[in-house]
Amino acid sequence: MAPYVPGEQPPAGAKVIKLNTNENPYPPSPRAMAALRAVDADALRRYPQPYAQPLREAAGRALGVDPAWILAGNGSDDLLAMIVLACADRGRKIVYPMPTYVLYRTLADMQAADVVEVPFDEDYNLPVETLLAEQGAVTFIASPNSPSGTLFANKQLEELASGLRGVLVIDEAYADFASHNAIELVKRHENAVVLRTFSKGYSLAGLRLGFGVMQPALLSGIDKVKDSYPVDAVACAVGTAAMEDQAHKNECCAKVVASRGRLAGELAAMGLKVWPSESNFLLAGTPDGASAAPTYQALKTRGILVRYFDQDRLRDKLRITVGTEEQNESLVATLKDVLT
Ligand SMILES: *Cc1c(COP(=O)(O)O)cnc(C)c1O
Repeated sequence: MAPYVPGEQPPAGAKVIKLNTNENPYPPSPRAMAALRAVDADALRRYPQPYAQPLREAAGRALGVDPAWILAGNGSDDLLAMIVLACADRGRKIVYPMPTYVLYRTLADMQAADVVEVPFDEDYNLPVETLLAEQGAVTFIASPNSPSGTLFANKQLEELASGLRGVLVIDEAYADFASHNAIELVKRHENAVVLRTFSKGYSLAGLRLGFGVMQPALLSGIDKVKDSYPVDAVACAVGTAAMEDQAHKNECCAKVVASRGRLAGELAAMGLKVWPSESNFLLAGTPDGASAAPTYQALKTRGILVRYFDQDRLRDKLRITVGTEEQNESLVATLKDVLT
């Protein structure tokens, strides 16, 4: 099998503008940083709570769901892994539209599951009928999708949840930047899971913390394969404080969303094709469909990292994380220089 290849992570202190792995450019909540400083020796000496109970309660309050419906893990990648481990196997189908988050493939291969990749059309409309016809043991939908930024209508996700006999995973890693989310679906569908992460909206990618929202019957199944203590004491304390500071997160995400609109306009003005995004990144295609690899390299040489996927349908595109206004302006100026 091919391993998952994450975006480049330059060493701390490296002088690069890092727009390649969709981190939030703004700092985490001051309340989260205070919680980090307040972690005491005893909290580290002892094993943490196996279910990160304080975090579950804070997330339950913020999202309006019963804490018993929340399963926390070491990043939402950990939840994805648990779901695949619990539900997939040789001879069982894992289904998702393409292109999407590359890790789904890696996880499916680890279980030797049958992978069915259903192509999106050029505008990234959700291929609901085909996804339904495949009847996967697990169906993954990233909404907003990466690398396109596309947000899907709850009506379509609900059609999937109703029509699928297997588990529908709605990966909402970017929900904090989007105009709606699908949490309500979980209340009506026992086979639906919504995944959330602290890595993007909450500016805590280094912490490794995420969670799934699902009905208790499904949760008790997924739970069987979880690590004994997937959320460490530090992540639990810091994540709980971050979750309780919705105002800070909303403020940072609103700034990113405002910058996203401006950046999309600038890229389009340069002649790039830009897809409508409800996330904290933009997919930009070369005007003539030429390879985007030389542009990626030229930006890298000039100290700006963006994401290039050497993959079908993506070789003429770059995925660009929305940074601070200053970072975006540097990107635009450098890109203009590179493209002429
Ligand atoms: C970033 C991302 C994740 C991973 O989140 P972690 O909580 O950092 O593991 C999951 N799904 C998608 C679609 C992502 O882009």
